Amino acid sequence: MSSTIRSPWLIHYDASSCNGCDIEVLACLTPLFDVERFGIINTGNPKHADIFLVTGSVNERNIGVVQQIYSQMLEPKVVIACGVCACSGGIFRDCYNTLGGIDAAIPVDVYAPGCAVRPEAIIDAVVTGLGVLEDRRKALAAGTLQPVALPRSVTAADKLVGGETVRAAAAASTREALEVLAACESPAATGGEALESPASHGGEALEACQSRESPTATGTQEA
Ligand code: SF4
Repeated sequence: MSSTIRSPWLIHYDASSCNGCDIEVLACLTPLFDVERFGIINTGNPKHADIFLVTGSVNERNIGVVQQIYSQMLEPKVVIACGVCACSGGIFRDCYNTLGGIDAAIPVDVYAPGCAVRPEAIIDAVVTGLGVLEDRRKALAAGTLQPVALPRSVTAADKLVGGETVRAAAAASTREALEVLAACESPAATGGEALESPASHGGEALEACQSRESPTATGTQEA
């Protein structure tokens, strides 16, 4: 057993957690669970850490920070996603600015679910991570450890919703809105009477346009 496995150091980062999972991480370090008795030490320096413990989900603001901390850690290293938000995005998964779990930014080795994740689950995940760390240490010594390519330029606009990106969906709905407004401004669509400014009229312009386009909406009947 290598010294890294006997005394792994970890770095903890709160990506966008509600702090529920962070309190449980801190509980692991307090005398009740006392992970230091296993040689596990919490460090603030990525270059000293073997294990990256992340809570919360990834969004457009923190993806760069998560990737930077990961990149600053030396090989071999292990990533643990703590809590369901870190595992998959959790209850924030469908938020427009949430990209997903930590694996949207960096490769995750161990998932510790729970809301909030229990200290026992965190300790269990760290112990599981030690096995991965040892395998990676051997691969590094043998020269077979493959470098990981991190996703670049990922933003909330690149998030896939219903099979298309948020960027594409927003562009399509903007195009559609502009077409409706252009139709409203056209004298043909408004019965020869151009509306002043659809923007100043807000929803009224759209309603007026739609009601003129639909004979049944205006109460007229075709012969
Ligand atoms: S998993 Fe639950 S407790 Fe943990 S950060 Fe998410 S919402 Fe908070």
